[in-house]
Amino acid sequence: MDYKKSNDLWVFIETKENGAVNSSGLELMNPGLKIAEKLKGRLVAVLFGDAVEKAVREVAEYGADQIIVAEGEQYREYSADIYAAALSCLLKKYAPAGILMAATNNGREMSPRAACRLKTGLTADCTDVGFDEETGCLLWTRPTFGGNLMACIICQNHWPQMGTIRPGIYKKEKMNKEHVDVIREAVVLEENIDRIKVYETMYEEKITVDLENAEIIVAGGKGVGSAKGFQMLEDLAKTLGGVVGASRGAVENGWISHAYQVGQTGRMVSPKLYIACGISGAIQHMAGMSSSDMIIAINQDREAPIFKIADYGIVGDVQVIVPALTKIILDEKRKKLCKRDK
Ligand SMILES: Cc1cc2nc3c(=O)[nH]c(=O)nc-3n(C[C@H](O)[C@H](O)[C@H](O)COP(=O)(O)OP(=O)(O)OC[C@H]3O[C@@H](n4cnc5c(N)ncnc54)[C@H](O)[C@@H]3O)c2cc1C
Repeated sequence: MDYKKSNDLWVFIETKENGAVNSSGLELMNPGLKIAEKLKGRLVAVLFGDAVEKAVREVAEYGADQIIVAEGEQYREYSADIYAAALSCLLKKYAPAGILMAATNNGREMSPRAACRLKTGLTADCTDVGFDEETGCLLWTRPTFGGNLMACIICQNHWPQMGTIRPGIYKKEKMNKEHVDVIREAVVLEENIDRIKVYETMYEEKITVDLENAEIIVAGGKGVGSAKGFQMLEDLAKTLGGVVGASRGAVENGWISHAYQVGQTGRMVSPKLYIACGISGAIQHMAGMSSSDMIIAINQDREAPIFKIADYGIVGDVQVIVPALTKIILDEKRKKLCKRDK
């Protein structure tokens, strides 16, 4: 394909039906900015929707030099066919060097369709993205061989460079640019392009816990021993103002729902504090939490791999240490309250 690429880097921002911004796209603005700087191009946010003025203002706070909006009734509800067709039209017209998209359900569905229309590659479900100065290409990192290896993928001969990145890996960071261009695009699509009609939603997964935005996570693994054991983790989490997470080992044992699973096939988290209780630290678990600001590991095996990435390690039995920690924190809180009341 004749693709006269510019130096700009795009980030696709998903919006919800009510026009609000989905934070998974905003998380990609900061890594996008770093890559755009290396490309000596602009960071361009692209969003689709109907009545998205508020979303445009919000996106402008995250370092975009330009925002391209495809606005109209046809974009109010997500449709893989419509979104992929419109995105590929815009990519052809503006020819950015690359585009980062969130690996949400919608992102995973529409991105390969758009890539196929442009006859370029797509690296799906990445855990990191960087830039190779030598080739001027994006470097996409993702797990492979069942998560036992991390592969670095480069798409050297086709443009734009496309990839989806898991939500929760990067943190949103506000950054105002002096001037943000907003371009409105009326993308005219062929008639009857939308081949998918949703008549009824049969199954809707209810995420009960907002792990991605939690500042403190107390996560339990097989070492917690039982579903009942998770109650002590709840207590500690509550005392600290955090939430509970889990390893796949604990989920597979039926002690806690998959909605709480952290890792490659679970949620990607980066809290301020991650307390890993009775979790060995398998590569697939660490892929989901290693970017936490501080990691405390509690494990009775001093050789457990989790200690390699922990800032603080406690060697011992979770059944003893977790309740003791909760007690110490509660006592400290009470002491502070008493001092204040005196
Ligand atoms: C394709 C693929 C995807 C995967 N995705 C994920 C994923 O998303 N998330 C994930 O977590 N895993 C994932 N896994 C599974 C992963 O490989 C591990 O099997 C899993 O993380 C192990 O869970 P665990 O640490 O709880 O259990 P274990 O590995 O069995 O570790 C239990 C730990 O508890 C310690 N322990 C035992 N009793 C106590 C005690 N009383 N006090 C203190 N410590 C104690 C032990 O020393 C041990 O280190 C995936 C695997 C594959 C192949």
